Amino acid sequence: MKFEVIRQMLNLPALLDVPSVLAVEPHPDDNEVGAGATIKLLTERGARVWYVTVTDGRAGSEDKAVNPEELVAVRAEERAKVNQLLGISESYQLGFEDAGAWTERELTQALVPLIRRWRPAAVMTVDAWTPYESHPDHIKTGRAVSAAVIFAKNAVIQRGQGDPYEVPQIVYYGSAYPNTFVDVSATWETKLQAMRAHVSQFDTPNWALLSQFLTEEATRLYREHYGSAKRGQVEAFKVLSSMQLHFFPEAMRS
Ligand SMILES: [Zn+2]
Repeated sequence: MKFEVIRQMLNLPALLDVPSVLAVEPHPDDNEVGAGATIKLLTERGARVWYVTVTDGRAGSEDKAVNPEELVAVRAEERAKVNQLLGISESYQLGFEDAGAWTERELTQALVPLIRRWRPAAVMTVDAWTPYESHPDHIKTGRAVSAAVIFAKNAVIQRGQGDPYEVPQIVYYGSAYPNTFVDVSATWETKLQAMRAHVSQFDTPNWALLSQFLTEEATRLYREHYGSAKRGQVEAFKVLSSMQLHFFPEAMRS
């Protein structure tokens, strides 16, 4: 069954109408790369957006001279600046080691109490099931967030760590199976600006090529979904109800 039908049956708001979102990123920049323009639209519409960054970002460099400790501090500063630009309500760094040996289970256990405390209308994260995704932090984060969503509503698991809460919708960015296409033409430039403000990551000779590639992809998606009468950009997501996260083989095609 298509998610759009399920969404209407469950009386869930469309993505841009959710009042609050918890966005969990593996590294301090992934939320912008995957969903920066949509997040900006959400905060402009008054939604409360919490950020959780899983890892410290120490491995985000190809410079042999880089000091990983300094990079962690630089990326925290970049994260704070970008939060201001996008209107993020609160932002938390869980401090797991970038590309480290932490487990999916440890992250799930860290997230369950946060979900129960904030009770977001939607949880957003990276899609761990996108084929060829090879970064362990992305795979572990996408899976741990999904497990935390189904455990947060359980009355026995992590008892005493907040009241059970059912997250109505989970939103994956970077998905190979998108089912939701948001017109982000109005905030596309802000997304690029927010990405570029992660100077340690994107102030590189590749930026021109990367931003062009992202814009061309987003423009192609816009044409596909809104026609070619005018030019615009789209961010694409896989959105599922929490019910579809367990024993639901059709979820990939939903
Ligand atoms: Zn990442």
